[in-house]
Amino acid sequence: MAKSVLSDARFHNEEAAFAYVEAELWPNGPVCPHCENADASKIGRLQGKTTRVGLRKCYACRKPFTVRIGTIFEDSHLPLRLWLQAIHLLCSSKKGISTRQLQRTLGCGLKTAWHLGHRIRHAMAPGSPEQLGGFGKVVEADETELARSRKTKRPEGFRRKTHNPIVMSLVERGGDIRSTTMDHHSAVGLLRQHVHPDSTLVTDQAQHYKFAPVADHQAVDHSKFEWVRGVAHTNTLEGFFSVLKRGLIGIYQHVDKKHLDRYLAEFDFRQNTREKLGINDVQRTALAVQGMAGKRLMYRDSFVG
Ligand SMILES: [Zn+2]
Repeated sequence: MAKSVLSDARFHNEEAAFAYVEAELWPNGPVCPHCENADASKIGRLQGKTTRVGLRKCYACRKPFTVRIGTIFEDSHLPLRLWLQAIHLLCSSKKGISTRQLQRTLGCGLKTAWHLGHRIRHAMAPGSPEQLGGFGKVVEADETELARSRKTKRPEGFRRKTHNPIVMSLVERGGDIRSTTMDHHSAVGLLRQHVHPDSTLVTDQAQHYKFAPVADHQAVDHSKFEWVRGVAHTNTLEGFFSVLKRGLIGIYQHVDKKHLDRYLAEFDFRQNTREKLGINDVQRTALAVQGMAGKRLMYRDSFVG
């Protein structure tokens, strides 16, 4: 029988967990987060009996540090091996994993599981994303409404006070998918932000794409049973939406609108690193760990407002 990935030392042993994260975040050896010194001869490992695992000292600025500094792991007291378990679970579950399931599998508290999940989702988002498309490139745009499952119980006399969130997704043909909530954003505003103006944009007949700020816009008319016309179709996104909806509605039954962008980052990330592109669960997990770097303050900011 093949060896189970779950038996890997990094999931059980703190030294191995640190060695794994260090290899991902410091491919060329340790870098001091205080002064950016990367000279191996000026960085030492502190190895007293009571010293924390992974603690190093920079002899250039005389400050101690670990690989956790500046990353999503910094504000957490959880062992790194537990983090790696959580990241692996999120990366290897196509439709995501609920907070409750994380809690049960990791044996931690519900609040801890919630924060773990959201930090990981946040780290899955690209740091400063470039616009999709460009001259001669095709970008597909479409949106979907995240309606609640009809099976979800509602209190007696329940009336819908808020609208269902609408998600707009964009995908560059042969490239990445990017999804955002349309709350407080106009379609034109989102397109201006995320799509290069020289692109060819393909959409359905929805009115709000009429003034798309792009060089070329082609629309198929679903109402006239037109689904594909040359490059114009939105089939790539239709497939993605089906995974997104089954995940968000089936697994994350109560997604709060203010956290929706983080869930979308999670689904985008898995889609952009999917098996079909030759990326397996272990490699996808490594990519997620690489994304943890430099995201600490961004995560805190994402809760403001
Ligand atoms: Zn330093």
